[in-house]
Amino acid sequence: MIYLDHSATTPVDPRVVEAMSPYWTEVFGNPSSIYGQGRRAAAALEEARGRTAAILGCQPAEIVFTSCGTESDNLALRGVALAAAQKGRRHLITTPIEHHAVLHTLADLAEHFDFEVTIVPVDHTGLVDPAAIEAAIRPDTALVSVMYANNEVGTIEPIAEIGAIARRRGVPFHTDAVQAGGILPLDVQALNVDLLALSAHKFYGPKGVGLLYVRKGTRLLPTQTGGSQERGRRAGTENVPYIVGLATALELAQGEREAEAARLLALRERLVAGILAAIPDVELTGHPTRRMPGHASFLVHGADAQSLLIALDLAGIAASSGSACAVGTPTASAVLTGMGYDATVALGALRLTLGRASSEADVETVLARLPGIVAAVRGNR
Ligand code: PLP
Repeated sequence: MIYLDHSATTPVDPRVVEAMSPYWTEVFGNPSSIYGQGRRAAAALEEARGRTAAILGCQPAEIVFTSCGTESDNLALRGVALAAAQKGRRHLITTPIEHHAVLHTLADLAEHFDFEVTIVPVDHTGLVDPAAIEAAIRPDTALVSVMYANNEVGTIEPIAEIGAIARRRGVPFHTDAVQAGGILPLDVQALNVDLLALSAHKFYGPKGVGLLYVRKGTRLLPTQTGGSQERGRRAGTENVPYIVGLATALELAQGEREAEAARLLALRERLVAGILAAIPDVELTGHPTRRMPGHASFLVHGADAQSLLIALDLAGIAASSGSACAVGTPTASAVLTGMGYDATVALGALRLTLGRASSEADVETVLARLPGIVAAVRGNR
């Protein structure tokens, strides 16, 4: 099988599995326990926090470990919004291309907690204009949330510029960096962010563990209550093996980032050029250059995505039409319609995302098989 869905998830790196292994049966203590077994677990937890903070360029105390990217986004948005509401600020700003973890959370805050959400439009490549974000800021704005890189079309947003504006205007700035975590720089000082969400399974770590960076001084109410773990910001016994896995995976991915990004970019350019040259009526979606290195996304006009994905699967190629979280939804992608594509046209979305296992041979195989598959799917319509 040729796996071309690295934006959906990645296999766990064997080095990560090895780093996690002592923390199941050997060092299994509860990090809050005072005896040796607990202290050893707490030491592993704090060591993982320190390694993660070093990569993000922040203080260890600014890292909150969570159960996934979705939880990190929820904690950031709900936590900051509900704290700001106590001061009378109930306005939130975002974009139409955010992941459901952000959009549905903001919609819930609007529906049930009386917040007002401004959705700042993006251009046809999915790019947000920092000046448009600035124009949307009001005296009662509680938070700006703009993703670092888009999962469906790969576009990389001008996070540092938006962050500089938010800081100047005194508004906390959150970025969903779930897609970017393994392949783009993560220095939170250079990015000018106050909150940043990551998820380990996007960078060859385990599923079910994430983190939220929270800049010191950012007012945030916890969204789940219970014990005082994570400095009272996220109750619940910490998942030590998974957190060690996240820290190890992040270190490995960020350490190999530049070489891997260059390799993936070369593969992607060959893939995109080959597809556009060989198949008529296909267009690249997202930004042509400001995009994640391994990310290729298209609209295949006259083909419907579900049939295309099934035919690709039968040909040994695992691909996707966009967000895995939206599979089964018969409607067009809100990301593509948010970028100005017609809803019927958007049903022909195809996403091919390369990763560590991807080779030149994989790309050539896809280029050999895809034209026939597309022709057959179009013919069946
Ligand atoms: N944000 C983005 C941009 C994503 O791509 C995803 C996962 O697809 C998430 C958030 C959710 O992360 P998790 O699967 O860890 O909940």
